[in-house]
Amino acid sequence: MTTDAHPVEAGATATAASETAAPATHAFEADVSRLLHMMVHSVYSDKTVFLRELISNAADACEKLRYEALSAPELLGDEARTQIAITLDPDAKTLTIEDNGIGMTADDMAEALGTIARSGTKAFMDRIAASSGADGAQLIGQFGVGFYSAFMVASKVDVVSRRAGADTASVWSSDGLGTYTIAPIDAAGAPARGTRVVLHLLDDATSYTERYTVERLIKDQSGHVPVPITLREKPD
Ligand code: ADP
Ligand code: MG
Repeated sequence: MTTDAHPVEAGATATAASETAAPATHAFEADVSRLLHMMVHSVYSDKTVFLRELISNAADACEKLRYEALSAPELLGDEARTQIAITLDPDAKTLTIEDNGIGMTADDMAEALGTIARSGTKAFMDRIAASSGADGAQLIGQFGVGFYSAFMVASKVDVVSRRAGADTASVWSSDGLGTYTIAPIDAAGAPARGTRVVLHLLDDATSYTERYTVERLIKDQSGHVPVPITLREKPD
């Protein structure tokens, strides 16, 4: 895109003034791309684990907030109760998992959602490298491959997040095909605190907008989660 500067007359357009910077595109670490490719192509793996992983991340974020709030109680603001909200939207074919936990800055996102630094995923990759290759599908369920498992059911994932105590929010977005973007987002479109993960579901995964299916998965996989989970359908 060319970037000729068009002077904007004062008051001429409201959108121009509030327009945020263009999203910065980043490449995933090579190991992440490898992992994503493997997960997307492992047709026999148990795709349902994605929900367990995203709920566990949301719960972890709530735990982290509570821990940090011990020494910085102001982080809780007027939302002392942590919670996880799951929203199903069959029309938009989206499943959204939102928590009001610790949240992430743009830098946090680049580190957490672009590399493979985390111990669980690292162990998985080591195990894959050591194995004959064919049993990756079973290993995915066994190891808890974390956030990236979202791409087993989604063609695009948006993560909107605001770190506790921060005035600004950012959005991470990817189709899982090698790159992701991070951009600032208008605070009005972000959670007051915490993280919203929006899964744009693949055509063969739209059953994850059915209340019955998702309720069952939550009961079966996430019954032990120490943070209340609410489930709602949209449009309601
Ligand atoms: P793990 O949970 O084992 O660390 P994941 O792949 O599940 O690995 O998540 C990667 C990282 O992304 C987490 O460690 C955390 O830093 C960040 N993250 C993911 N989801 C959230 C969330 N809902 N809130 C805050 N941070 C998150
Ligand atoms: Mg996790």
